[in-house]
Amino acid sequence: MSFFRTLADFLLPRYCIACGQELAGAEEHLCNSCLCKIRPIDWAEAGDNHLLRKLWEMHDVEAGGSTFYYRHESEFHNIFVMLKYASRPDIARDLARSTFPLWMERGLADGVDMIIPVPLAPRKLWHRGYNQAEWVARGVADACKLPLKTDILVRTKNNSTQTHKDRARRKEAMSGVFDVRGNADLNGKTILLTDDIITTGSTIADCIRALREKYRDVRIRVYSLGWSGK
Ligand SMILES: [Zn+2]
Repeated sequence: MSFFRTLADFLLPRYCIACGQELAGAEEHLCNSCLCKIRPIDWAEAGDNHLLRKLWEMHDVEAGGSTFYYRHESEFHNIFVMLKYASRPDIARDLARSTFPLWMERGLADGVDMIIPVPLAPRKLWHRGYNQAEWVARGVADACKLPLKTDILVRTKNNSTQTHKDRARRKEAMSGVFDVRGNADLNGKTILLTDDIITTGSTIADCIRALREKYRDVRIRVYSLGWSGK
């Protein structure tokens, strides 16, 4: 621990974004006790876990994983408040950079050609000024040194995901929300889609649908910081 860090902590204490306890020494964003609670969901395999089984109901996904379960009442809820509403997307990047290697050990990044974040609705992007899923993707790219592409999958409409609608009506409402741009042939390529939180998985499913409409043989993997487990 450097003298300057000790001095800076004395003058301007830093606090754990999950539990609010004062941070010490080399701790960044999260205290060691909260960091210890972060595990890839169930220590599962990248090729078969609860998140994947949820996504398989909608699409064929090769592998996937989330860093932790997200519950509204859990201490990790505050992490997403910070990175979505408190202009702290750097937290998403730092957490992804430090925790994605746990999934790399389980092969999630093996054979991946590029990382693509779930795009944010234009209106939300304008208000927030950043796409938190893209900052997750930046942390993933920092960890696995794979290219990050933000100009292939774009969101062209502001439609909310309207998860309360039945599947048929929702599909109709979401039709054309995501667009796939560029001329690179992605058939045979493996894409790692990233998001900050996955709840129902329907937004990821819409992204996959848009990608597969243009590239039938694109292979998809999924990573998110949090998963609600629904
Ligand atoms: Zn803590």
